[in-house]
This record gives sequence, C-alpha cells and structure tokens, in this order.
Amino acid sequence: MEKELYERFEIIDAHGHIFPEKIAENATVNIGNFYDIPMHGCGMSEKLIESGKKIGVKQYLVCSTATSPHQIDAINRFITKECAAHPEFFGLGTTHADSYDIEGDIQHIIDSGLHGVKLHPDFQLFNADSKEAFQIYDAMQGRLPLMIHCGDNRYDYSAPQRIANIHRNFPKLKIQAAHLGGYQQWDDAVDLLKGLENVAFDFSSSLAFLAPEKAAGIIRTYGVENCFYGSDFPMWTHEEELERTFAMGFTEDELHKLLGRNFKEFYGIV
Ligand SMILES: [Zn+2]
Repeated sequence: MEKELYERFEIIDAHGHIFPEKIAENATVNIGNFYDIPMHGCGMSEKLIESGKKIGVKQYLVCSTATSPHQIDAINRFITKECAAHPEFFGLGTTHADSYDIEGDIQHIIDSGLHGVKLHPDFQLFNADSKEAFQIYDAMQGRLPLMIHCGDNRYDYSAPQRIANIHRNFPKLKIQAAHLGGYQQWDDAVDLLKGLENVAFDFSSSLAFLAPEKAAGIIRTYGVENCFYGSDFPMWTHEEELERTFAMGFTEDELHKLLGRNFKEFYGIV
C-alpha cells in the first residue's frame, strides 16, 4: 500500500492475537480450522509487528484466551512479558468462568499493569451471560474494560443477546464487543446492541463478509465514534483490513476516529 494512503493516520490495531512461541503454530492452525479461514503467518509478536509495520500501526491491543482455568496465570504472565518487551503493545489479560479465584485473577491483571480482560466464550466453552461469567463482570465493573468475542452462527455461547444481557446486568462495565457485536450474526447484533452506553465495537473479522455499504451502515447505526479498526491478526493482515476500511467511504475525519482516536478515548489513553 502507498505510504501516502496511511501515514497521515495514527493507526491502532484494536484486536491482535499473540501466543507463546512454543504453541504459536498449533494455536494458529487451530483457529484457522475453527473458522475455516486461511491464517496469515503465525500469531507471534514479531509477526504481528511485521504485518502492522506495512501500514504504520502505532499501537496494538494484544490478547490471548485461556481455554481452561489452569492456563490463566501462564497467559497473563506471557502477555505482561510481551508488553514489557514491546512498548507498542497494549495488553489485556484473561480469566475463565470456571476459575476458582476470579477476584484474584482480576487483581493480578490490574497489578500486572494490563488494561482489560479478553474473553472468548466460544473457545472457553461457557455462556457469556452465565452466572459464573457474571462473577467475572462483577469483579471487573468500574475497574477494567471487557473485550469479548461476539457471535457465531454455529454456536450460541457469545450470541448478541447474551452480550446485551451482560450490559443489562452490568451497565457500567465498559465492553469492547468484537466483530461488530456478532460475527456472522450482524443483523441480530445491530438490533440488540445499538445505542447501549459503555459498549463499543471493533470491526475486525467483519469487513471481509459484508458489502462495504452494509458495513458502513452498521457502523453508522452504532455511531462512528463507538467503532474501531482491528486486524484480528493472524486472521487477516493489517493491510487488507485497512483496504476494507477505506472501501467503506468514510470521511477523513471519521477515519481518524475509526483508526485510532475512538480506541484511545474508550481506553482512556492520553
Ligand atoms: Zn480475538
């Protein structure tokens, strides 16, 4: 991509995945199979940065989810270590609805200087609005934002109505609802999640499946100031997701918001 096209924006990737080197290759293959989407390279810090550099990404939200409670500590330590090594990283920790010490996990995430919690109920195999998961939000509300995978037309764990239910019970919890609030369930997501206070949306892993006008319409319904760009790397490269972002026809000022400004505002980055 021509430098003139991206260099005037301060681009933040609101959704990137990294894995410890030992498991990066397997984890990437597993995700590719889960979504039946060919992956780009593999989910390692260096690869993420290499991809983002091609469009001058300044900052990356990085996360990883624990598929079982015994992985929580190792993952949170890994993300913390990667953030220390890469100043351009903005790290989220993780926990699990079956964790025996949810309050301890949240405190540990705060003490480690991480900025929120990432959950992926479809990989973690719990309903996003179960009473066990509610203990997580109860410990987080007013302290840390939640970034949560949303939607899949094959599973029900993170369906848009469950995300709406989290908001109903925890209205002060800041929620980054990934994939425009419902991967492959975009119409339901818009109906259920539009106009909710404290809920913002990344449009990673969405634009490849939606016509540009349709995607732009969803973003306008949620409010341009409530949406942000993300790669979902290694699902997509930064460049292709940026091309799809440009294709939606937003104004220069709107692009500044979507590509970085909204993210900073949501997470309180000065
Ligand atoms: Zn994710």
